[in-house]
Amino acid sequence: MKLMFRNFPIYRIEWVTSIFLIGTALGALTLVPWFLWTHVGETDLGWGFVAALFVFYYYATGFSITLGYHRLFSHLSFKAKWPVKLFTLLFGAASFENSALDWSADHRIHHKHVDEDEDPYDISKGFFYAHIGWLLFRLKPKPPVTNVKDLEADGLVMWQHRYVQWIGLVVGFVVPTLLGWAYGHFVTGTPGETALACFLIPGLLRTVVVQQGTFCINSLCHMFGRQPYSTRHSARDSWWVALLTFGEGYHNYHHEFQHDYRNGVKAWQFDPTKWIIWSLAKLGLASDLRTVPDTRILAAEVKERSKSLADDTRELVARLDARTRELRARTIASLEGIAADLSQRAEALRELAATKAEVGRETLDEVRALFQEAARHLESLRRDGAPSAA
Ligand SMILES: [Zn+2]
Ligand SMILES: [Zn+2]
Repeated sequence: MKLMFRNFPIYRIEWVTSIFLIGTALGALTLVPWFLWTHVGETDLGWGFVAALFVFYYYATGFSITLGYHRLFSHLSFKAKWPVKLFTLLFGAASFENSALDWSADHRIHHKHVDEDEDPYDISKGFFYAHIGWLLFRLKPKPPVTNVKDLEADGLVMWQHRYVQWIGLVVGFVVPTLLGWAYGHFVTGTPGETALACFLIPGLLRTVVVQQGTFCINSLCHMFGRQPYSTRHSARDSWWVALLTFGEGYHNYHHEFQHDYRNGVKAWQFDPTKWIIWSLAKLGLASDLRTVPDTRILAAEVKERSKSLADDTRELVARLDARTRELRARTIASLEGIAADLSQRAEALRELAATKAEVGRETLDEVRALFQEAARHLESLRRDGAPSAA
């Protein structure tokens, strides 16, 4: 019999995951403050060591998800030598987000069916569902895993898949606790307390912080920010989400060009995962970094800009009274002209990209000048349409 509570399908609850996620979060919110309250200023248990271990674990497990699980295993956006694979599999397990195989299977479905019912973390079911709800209860039985044949042929990936919970426990909790014990034993003379501090801070607190950070990719990255490359899906580019997610905040670009090893494609965008992959390639630990040609990226950007410009113009004009509309007829006409021009240029760029030709500096400058001119015109219309301050 399928257990229900009123309308709530109790039989759909993922008990082990739910207890783990809620338990670790409650533990981090209560035990960590209690420990700090009772020990900071009281005991010199090697706080610098505990903090350094926390920082190391935070970055090691965080990057194992973004660089390893996401860009390497799910998207094959570059090739990596075995030490990189091993590191990201060990510390990926310690982030307690399932095995690389399962994670990639879900993630590939997410890209294929984004915003649809099959999307495992479909944002149209709301923030909570996309962030964590999908892990706490399954609305539908898990579909059979068929989209990771390439990963199933990888011995290291399969080894991690088989023992992922044990690896996570050892790397994520046992190792930091033992390191804390050793430091306390040999340096500060507080083995028990330093061990507990390392269990709680680089272990428990770090697990929760990294999980919430990576969950944001599925929730916030589909809610906040701009859509410069495509409006066909909910994914968005946001610099502040990039800060929380090791550079994954440029999610609109990522959904449009998922095999590019960069998420923040512009040189100035905060994408430390991209910088590390690039550095690993320089060190000979990574190769075959996949990128989308600049012309294709520009074509997508120009097309979106022409669409949004036409929409914005229409919306602003509707807000103007008849007399202002007449007075600003020239501005409105040039905005419409720029939108049409950009739309044609996008088409030309797409054709150019198909021949693998590079876009010239001149074209780039012209496009940039059009963007700026349009922004100026829109701004002045916006001022006209704004209700005067009373
Ligand atoms: Zn992805
Ligand atoms: Zn996404």
